Amino acid sequence: MTQRLLGVIGDPIEHSLSPRLHKFVLRNLSLASEYEYRAFRVAPDELSDFVRRAGSQSIVGLNVTIPHKQAVLQYLDELDLGAEKIGAVNTIVFNQGKLKGYNTDGAGFVRAARTNGVALNASKVVMLGAGGAAKAVAFALAETGAAQLSIYNRSIERALELKAQLLEKTRLSTICVHRLDDRECLCDDLSRSTLLINTTSIGMHPRFSESPLVIPEALHSGLTVFDLIYNPGETELMRQAQHRGARAVNGLEMLIYQGLEALCLWLRQEEFSKLEEKISLLHLKNELNETLGVPV
Ligand code: NAP
Repeated sequence: MTQRLLGVIGDPIEHSLSPRLHKFVLRNLSLASEYEYRAFRVAPDELSDFVRRAGSQSIVGLNVTIPHKQAVLQYLDELDLGAEKIGAVNTIVFNQGKLKGYNTDGAGFVRAARTNGVALNASKVVMLGAGGAAKAVAFALAETGAAQLSIYNRSIERALELKAQLLEKTRLSTICVHRLDDRECLCDDLSRSTLLINTTSIGMHPRFSESPLVIPEALHSGLTVFDLIYNPGETELMRQAQHRGARAVNGLEMLIYQGLEALCLWLRQEEFSKLEEKISLLHLKNELNETLGVPV
């Protein structure tokens, strides 16, 4: 039987956990002989050629990661409504020579929040970052009924752009924008918030000791801190949160759920729950943590 190919494209790609994740799931679904999942290092100047040739190489689906999530849009035939709103794609489905782009990061975030008992409806949220992941999370927050969102980012222009996008395309209207180092506004916002989300890459491997939050003393026990970073498993921000009695959640479950959402699209499996039933999330988490060197 000819194996169908799935994979992830990015640059660099060596540290991606996606191959490990998908191989585990395909094995658990008894599909490992039918599908192979590979990591492809694709430099920005190779992207157009790679995507054009992918269809003729038995590739049926791709995940897309840094730095191609936006650049890849121009090579696709169709966009899912959610990906179109966000303006970024992390999953491509190849179907009869046509390429359709999706974004499963937002759905992954919502499922991870739900699994961890983090309430999104009516939440008052401070979000650090305004990059690709932040966009997906912000649209997911708007769709799940967040009451207010304060966006803090190093580049104020990028945060203003995201605010304009949200105002135009969602019903979320209470949105503030500040610089990442605006201590006064952060202190005030955090005191009135229920959820702090880090979507910046500050604190990610290998910069373990860094935190994106300039005033950790403003963290409090009424706050849940959701860090999208999963390597390390416990970031400096999460440590700061726990030290002040706040709950802390890392990005590993979001990674798993965005991956499962992508797999549902590739396998044309509409019911996520049926897929979920067949795999052990605990074993999958343990396997990924082992890969990261996190004690399980
Ligand atoms: P991105 O589009 O490159 O955005 C990076 C963000 O981090 C921007 O807001 C950027 O600010 C900020 N940033 C980076 N370095 C900074 C620095 N030295 N000082 C201040 N701000 C800095 O990347 P992304 O795709 O959104 O990914 C962001 C993080 O989310 C990564 O750690 C990634 O691994 C994680 N992620 C996790 C999942 C998951 O499933 N758990 C999914 C997607 C992403 P500027 O706008 O000012 O540059």
